[in-house]
Amino acid sequence: MMAQYWSLKDKAGDCLLFYRMGDFFELFFDDAKAAAATLDIALTSRGEHGGEPVPMCGVPVHAAESYLARLIRAGHRVAIAEQVESPAEAKARGGSKALVARAIVRFVTAGTLTEEALLEGRSANRLAALAEVGSEGEVAIAAADISTGRFEVVAVRREAVDAELARLAPSELLVSEAAEAPVAGARQIVRRPVGEFASTAGQKRLEALFGVQTLDGFGSFSRGEIAAMGAIAAYLDHVGTGSAVFLQPPLSVSASDRMAIDAATRESLELVRTMAGARDGSLLATIDRTVTAAGARLLADDLASPLTDKGAILDRLDLVDSLARDALWRGELRATLRALPDAGRALGRLVAGRGGPRDLAQLRDALGGARLLREHLARRADLPPLLARLLPGLDGHGALVDELTRALIETPPVDAAQGGYIAEGYDHALDALRETARDGRKAIAVLEAGYRDRTGIASLKIRHNGVLGYHVEVPAKHADALMAPESGFTHRQTLAGVVRFNSADLHEAASRVTQAGVHALAAEAAHLETLTEQATERREAIAASCDVLARIDVAAALADHAMSHNWCRPDLADEPCLDVTGGRHPVVEAALAKSGERFVPNDVSLSEADRLWLVTGPNMGGKSTFLRQNALIVVLAQAGGFVPAATAKLGLVDRLFSRVGASDNLARGRSTFMVEMVETAAILAQATPQSFVILDEVGRGTSTYDGLALAWSVVEAVHEVNKCRCLFATHYHELTRLAETLNALSLHHVRAREWQGDLVLLHEVAEGPADRSYGLAVARLAGVPAGVVKRAEAVLAKLEAGREATGGLAAGLDDLPLFAATLAAAPVATTDALREALGAIDPDALAPREALDALYTLKRLLADEA
Ligand code: ADP
Ligand code: MG
Repeated sequence: MMAQYWSLKDKAGDCLLFYRMGDFFELFFDDAKAAAATLDIALTSRGEHGGEPVPMCGVPVHAAESYLARLIRAGHRVAIAEQVESPAEAKARGGSKALVARAIVRFVTAGTLTEEALLEGRSANRLAALAEVGSEGEVAIAAADISTGRFEVVAVRREAVDAELARLAPSELLVSEAAEAPVAGARQIVRRPVGEFASTAGQKRLEALFGVQTLDGFGSFSRGEIAAMGAIAAYLDHVGTGSAVFLQPPLSVSASDRMAIDAATRESLELVRTMAGARDGSLLATIDRTVTAAGARLLADDLASPLTDKGAILDRLDLVDSLARDALWRGELRATLRALPDAGRALGRLVAGRGGPRDLAQLRDALGGARLLREHLARRADLPPLLARLLPGLDGHGALVDELTRALIETPPVDAAQGGYIAEGYDHALDALRETARDGRKAIAVLEAGYRDRTGIASLKIRHNGVLGYHVEVPAKHADALMAPESGFTHRQTLAGVVRFNSADLHEAASRVTQAGVHALAAEAAHLETLTEQATERREAIAASCDVLARIDVAAALADHAMSHNWCRPDLADEPCLDVTGGRHPVVEAALAKSGERFVPNDVSLSEADRLWLVTGPNMGGKSTFLRQNALIVVLAQAGGFVPAATAKLGLVDRLFSRVGASDNLARGRSTFMVEMVETAAILAQATPQSFVILDEVGRGTSTYDGLALAWSVVEAVHEVNKCRCLFATHYHELTRLAETLNALSLHHVRAREWQGDLVLLHEVAEGPADRSYGLAVARLAGVPAGVVKRAEAVLAKLEAGREATGGLAAGLDDLPLFAATLAAAPVATTDALREALGAIDPDALAPREALDALYTLKRLLADEA
């Protein structure tokens, strides 16, 4: 057994091996230790290996799914080794001591799940692969959600890989064993053999998978893209050990069709997840009113990848708009959608061969509902263009729906094993078998009554179990009568309180029931197979219909939320501007509303002539909130939804950046100032005049002078070089001097007032610089003891007196040359003759005389340079 175990473990690699033994999956050695710790189950031991007891733990097969779910969530992957022959077969093959053959039938991994119980209904579950071909610096990323069949591929520049992975948020990421750089952004990274990332082999694999001669029909793909997609196909083949998977033809997405949002920006804006990783508290969770799981998944995708194509955005906005205007229609649509099951995932399970009668019923109900919806919508005169284009995608399932309706009972079981899911009247032979079984059961009931009469034992029962089949059972005290040889009963089993018997009549009736039952089960199974085939043949059309339903759900949900929260339809302008009146932060507003507080709406107006706002004001005054709400408005608008404002107009944003000063961001626990600078550098390198940037207290993570100096030069660079729209919040009042030299920069502050010695934060953004920093007032507000605040006041007075005298922290900055001038004069890298000569010297190869010469040469070079 150990030999068999080790050979399976070898194939399982770094996955935990579930080794089937009877009704349990057992784990051994380190696997057992890891699983016992994660699952909090008892770690026992069994036998010895190398003189040590073998650690072991096990989970019952019937409950394996819930244990699997916990292991996967904890970051494990699991290989399932099943018994692939019965003990009887093993005996026949190799004698009484033969070991039952076992094989790995499947790997369960986070990115390749289809089971309802293991998946989170409202989020996508993606498996991604990363491939780099050649040295052009282009990286292809393929991503598949096999629970719905969605398959996409995108090629990006190497710098944009992290951003793309942050968008996709795969639960498993495949990289080549040869790839050097560790990749961030995926929950689990799996290294696969280099060969699985080869583009020629990948092409063959994909052609076979889709049953096509060439991939050209799906679009044109680069070698890298094919390599990445091929790696996905290879891995799916590996984990499913060759069983079918659901992949729709690959969709080639172009990175330029979407707003570029890097990982740090996503994190700080908390679009679909909070910084702590939870869905609750994110923008998505706050506005999600979708009524279907597929709708929720699509909304998450929409928010994660806002569009940059004006026509496409307007299409979505028109749809939301018309749904927003007509509450009655919206209500009806949502009620219809709410009743529809998650057909996309049911289809995924059916294609993967893990579907059951319940999944077919879900297709029936969803597609049937889609047909009604389609008829209902077709009657409307003024369909928004996007909807008119989508509607035909709901068609064409009539025959399948009719067939499933006739074939299945209303609510079939998840599992086919017990039968009973095929409806009466669908198959006459099946009906006849069921009739026979029913008659047999009736006959058994009659027998029971007869036996009670005959023996006078009122507590006599005919029972059924898996071992004995049908049998007569009487309490032990009555057993003697039936034990008599002429009683007509044969003894089968004596238990503590009861004794069990068989009889000829019962045996005959029972075999009729059993046989009919077995045949009926087989007939149902055959129907299930045919119906599954009929459904999966239409997989692409069904998946397309599911997408249409999800799109309608998202639009209706956005409209619903917009109407109940007074949101407005954004206008799209052609020039880079951002004009918002009455803007709000949806998440902060919702949080305030819970405690009965009111959110103070604020305006912003950025244009080419006034594109950089410097926002100052006291701590807790609302600077960060103001910055983020405007970034969220941009995201929502370009995702095609209404925005939390009274009016909004914006020029399309190509890249969105958000940076938060290090000390505001301690949760991330990295070397924060370094991170802050790395991330800021990325903005300076990438932001264009079409971009929108929010910088929140950048420079805060270091000492005052460094921080001020960095903040100063970053503002200058953003203004002079990137020329993007930018909101910059800072507590460095000295920065307000920049308004004198930078003409597209203007000063703003969040208002505060001291009233009767208390600080009142108004959360109102107003023009001009803040008059002072109110730091001491904030300290008082925060409960710093009065004595300490008093002392601080005295210190402050001294410092301010000193500032008067010296010109303060920013003294002398007025004499700085203009930023543009320093840019032009930035030193150009020169070749350095001295270094070159020094580098060429090999001290071990020099004679003393040569060494002296070399020294003279170096001295001369130094003199030349000076
Ligand atoms: P700052 O960045 O200036 O320190 P924040 O933006 O973090 O301030 O805001 C601090 C708190 O003030 C928020 O948590 C919120 O409760 C409240 N707040 C911010 N903006 C508003 C607003 N516009 N209306 C009402 N309350 C606000
Ligand atoms: Mg702040």
